[in-house]
Amino acid sequence: ARKAALAASTGPGATADGHKVPLLANVGGPADVPAAVEAGAEGVGLFRTEFLFLDDSKNAPSEQKQLEAYRQVLEAFPEGRVVVRVLDAGADKPLDFLTPSDEPNPALGVRGLRTLLDHPDVLRTQLTALAKAAEGLPVYLEVMAPMVADRTDAKAFADACREAGLRAKFGAMVEIPSAALRARSILQEVEFLSLGTNDLAQYTFAADRQVGAVSRLQDPWQPALLDLVALSADAAKAEGKSCGVCGEAASDPLLACVLTGLGVTSLSMGAASIPYVRATLAKYTLAQCERAAAAARAADSAEEARSAAQAVLSGE
Ligand code: PEP
Ligand code: MG
Repeated sequence: ARKAALAASTGPGATADGHKVPLLANVGGPADVPAAVEAGAEGVGLFRTEFLFLDDSKNAPSEQKQLEAYRQVLEAFPEGRVVVRVLDAGADKPLDFLTPSDEPNPALGVRGLRTLLDHPDVLRTQLTALAKAAEGLPVYLEVMAPMVADRTDAKAFADACREAGLRAKFGAMVEIPSAALRARSILQEVEFLSLGTNDLAQYTFAADRQVGAVSRLQDPWQPALLDLVALSADAAKAEGKSCGVCGEAASDPLLACVLTGLGVTSLSMGAASIPYVRATLAKYTLAQCERAAAAARAADSAEEARSAAQAVLSGE
């Protein structure tokens, strides 16, 4: 029965009453594209470009090599959206030639956008490759920066995109609590937000995502994390802009309903999760998702939030 329900689950993501929530795929490069297409992804919500940088420990990949990889991904979704994240090096994704090796707390050091602002040549090459890759394609390209802390970061990124002649929407990932708290200010510089719930949980709870002993605090059902999601989604709504989720949270079907109820406008996840999320979302109305979200936020722990949302959605 479960198989049949999943097989029947095709087409765009939407709630039972037709509120659209585009379901996008997280990819690491062209090799992940066939699975995304097969799962019926409506585009790519997170292209983690750091995988292109892993082949050579001393240099960034050439503009031409990057261009080819970007073009292959863009061509796979001719009518869809493709959200490319510029290089997110450092902390859990160190790169020898870019990441300082002497930091006491690499997760709190020079990583993500901070690395790129210290190496403007690397950012420029990547943005130029993206601009060229998108030339002549009807695809709807969006480019976002990881680890944006404030409006100054967002402006520096948007300026770099404009200088590279990129004709795309520029966005900021919300992975640091300060970005969620001041989302409206960041949205003065960029056109969309994308919540990276893995890092947002890490920084909200001061719980290293690589340390299993603190995994309880990495649970995306934590009500404090849901509060920051709501702040970001509300800010985007007030500015008439979009706010997606591309962290692991989006791949939990029940949590996907709660995120929708919090006002998130798209969900991006590993391709394998898309059919499950699509099928679950289709069972509930937006109003039910909103009630589940309110119940989850009123809880005092991740476990309580999960059971409260479940109780609302199963009509208990
Ligand atoms: C995140 O932090 O939630 C995210 C999507 O980025 P990554 O997992 O690649 O750090
Ligand atoms: Mg991240």
